[in-house]
Amino acid sequence: MPETYAPKRRDYPLSNLNDTLRLVRVRCRYCKRSHNYFPSDLIQIFGDVDVDSLMDRMKCENGADHGKLEVEAFSPTGREAVNLRIRRLVALKIHRVPVWREEPA
Ligand SMILES: [Zn+2]
Repeated sequence: MPETYAPKRRDYPLSNLNDTLRLVRVRCRYCKRSHNYFPSDLIQIFGDVDVDSLMDRMKCENGADHGKLEVEAFSPTGREAVNLRIRRLVALKIHRVPVWREEPA
């Protein structure tokens, strides 16, 4: 296996952004819409993963077939911060799926 990506891969865990007050912008090229997230919210869902890896972990809410999302970490500038909307995690719902098995009486 080539190890081209290995040294770069864990450069930016989400917790790193928390410390520097940066946000994560996720953009769908198909919908041309983007959302901004707090790294701490994303950590609750995905764990303290590498920022780049979110491209593969996150799906567009408007369609799973919208392809890879663009993910970038950014620090909002003063002007940008005024109108910035941040998508906050309200709840993590757990799907309860029944699993059945036939047993002799
Ligand atoms: Zn989309």
